[in-house]
Amino acid sequence: MLRQPLLMLSRSEMVKDLVTAMPVSSGIVSRYVPGEATESAVEATRGLIADGLHVTLDFLGEDTVDRAQADATVAAYTGLLTALTDEGLSRNAEVSVKLSAIGQALPDRGEKVALDNARVICQAARNAGTTVTLDMEDHTTTDSTLSTLRELRKDFPETGAVVQAYLHRTEADCRDLAYEGSRVRLCKGAYNEPESVAFQDKHEVDKSYVRCLKVLMAGQGYPMVATHDPRMVDIGGALATRNDRAQGSYEFQMLFGIRPDEQRRLAEAGEKVRVYVPYGEEWYGYLMRRLAERPSNLTFFLRSLISK
Ligand code: FAD
Repeated sequence: MLRQPLLMLSRSEMVKDLVTAMPVSSGIVSRYVPGEATESAVEATRGLIADGLHVTLDFLGEDTVDRAQADATVAAYTGLLTALTDEGLSRNAEVSVKLSAIGQALPDRGEKVALDNARVICQAARNAGTTVTLDMEDHTTTDSTLSTLRELRKDFPETGAVVQAYLHRTEADCRDLAYEGSRVRLCKGAYNEPESVAFQDKHEVDKSYVRCLKVLMAGQGYPMVATHDPRMVDIGGALATRNDRAQGSYEFQMLFGIRPDEQRRLAEAGEKVRVYVPYGEEWYGYLMRRLAERPSNLTFFLRSLISK
């Protein structure tokens, strides 16, 4: 019931100003975001890798309509990749990029700016011996993001895609993307989407997730099973076995701070597990999406607001 209002608030500038006056170290924020500085992200990455996990890092920010901010985001990613290389972490840590943070939403030739910026990040990732995955945002950007992905893959075929099981179109997208060399992260989807494009019922989303997983696991690509849902994790493992996939020919992915024990349990069982680590000052939208998934955290969140 609270999911929709929380997702609407995730785009409110007024609430954002109120909430972001809160320090990142306050309980609810630091549960999901290890910090604002590159050093905090590198530190969190080091700890996760020491525990046998892999990492994908997201420099937080989205819906940028300012060219200078888009360019600053590119610089943050290239700086991060250099820091990961210097610390000897880049073999086990890649980056996740939202195209709307690097120019896609700019009013003038946004798609082209985002593509050029993404190329710079992909080249820096390749120099660091690692890869980029393009996050997927709301449905109005899906075609643009997939077409940018196709362009990027001409020069950087290692670039990964994300698809969202709640969209009606995604099973077909999975078929298109399940080719050799392709890396596809399947998640349920985190935005407020209309009935015309997305399943609204949780059970329907789960059924779609399983259909998409079947396509990806039977295909030639590298499936990245991004979910905390114990049933989806079990089904992912069972489908891998059914398709004769060895451990490491697919991976599980979870968000920083969510089911950390399960992340370690899977890794200890020999599975490849990657943790998505967001960092930076622009944590508001990300935090609101996490609260929308878990409204029981709302009381904790409101308490931290009042006590600030
Ligand atoms: P759910 O049914 O939502 O949750 C299953 C269980 O997981 C819950 O019962 C609970 O125990 C636990 N859980 C889930 N969420 C939380 C939470 N916030 N706090 C505490 N416990 C929780 N979405 C996009 O739209 N685009 C993306 O690019 C994208 N990238 C992602 C990358 C990764 C690696 C992951 C793991 C998720 C990503 N998501 C993305 C978010 C995703 O779409 C879902 O919103 C999110 O993962 C919750 O769905 P679930 O599969 O965990 O299942």
